[in-house]
Amino acid sequence: MARVIAIANQKGGVGKTTTAINLSACLAERNRKVLAIDIDPQGNTSSGLGIDKNKLKNSVYQMIIGECTLEECLVHTAIKNLDVLPSNVNLAGAEIELIGIEGREYILKKEVDKIRDDYDFILIDCPPSLNTLTVNAMTTADTVLVPIQCEFYALEGLTQLIHTINLVKQRLNPRLEMEGVVFTMFDARTNLSLQVVENVKSNLKQNIYKTIIPRNVRLAEAPSHGLPINLYDPKSAGAEGYRQLAIEVIEKDDAEMYEKNDISEIK
Ligand code: ADP
Ligand code: MG
Repeated sequence: MARVIAIANQKGGVGKTTTAINLSACLAERNRKVLAIDIDPQGNTSSGLGIDKNKLKNSVYQMIIGECTLEECLVHTAIKNLDVLPSNVNLAGAEIELIGIEGREYILKKEVDKIRDDYDFILIDCPPSLNTLTVNAMTTADTVLVPIQCEFYALEGLTQLIHTINLVKQRLNPRLEMEGVVFTMFDARTNLSLQVVENVKSNLKQNIYKTIIPRNVRLAEAPSHGLPINLYDPKSAGAEGYRQLAIEVIEKDDAEMYEKNDISEIK
């Protein structure tokens, strides 16, 4: 059964979408079956994986408002092992349409539960806010992965995000855990990047991934070619970073599965 990871941080521009695209592609490269779900109306995960987001007949929006099934909006990409539930600007209207609908926090989960067994990893790229769509991602997910940009205001808003995760866990999804924090856009030439990493490490009692994603212009270029970094520039520092992160995510998942199996055997 898939491990479902919501990639969330209500700050924009911290690397959520870049992580969703490239972690998905690097997990797929390691022969894991991956589904990337784009629930940001900007649709950048969709276009970054080569999907023409403005020509979609069905997207996550239609699925959320019940106008199509998950299968009808699922896109099998040209990349081996990688499927996408794409979105576009239509999704911006979903927030309003969902007002007053009973069980609106579980709409995504209900759909995703039907296909959980078909994948090893399901990654959800969240919009830059803590709205109903993000809550839908968190009720669907097993864990939340938080990208943190190595800049001065890195910790700003993090308390609120962790509070939201805790609220969702208490009230809507008791399974929800923190996947961990991943540093993005690390610039080895500046002291600031190093200071941010040290500061977050000493202030945050969360799992912090050892892999640190470097600032790498190839990562910023790749989306305009509709390609993930491992295909756009396989030897770049960015590709290396996301491959490393994929290995860590797989190792963490394997270790937890092993633990769970162990416990059930003891019982
Ligand atoms: P978010 O989804 O959190 O808003 P994005 O992933 O879209 O953030 O990243 C914001 C911008 O920074 C994008 O233009 C993206 O290409 C760029 N970017 C993200 N990560 C890196 C990186 N490691 N190196 C260079 N540019 C990056
Ligand atoms: Mg984004």
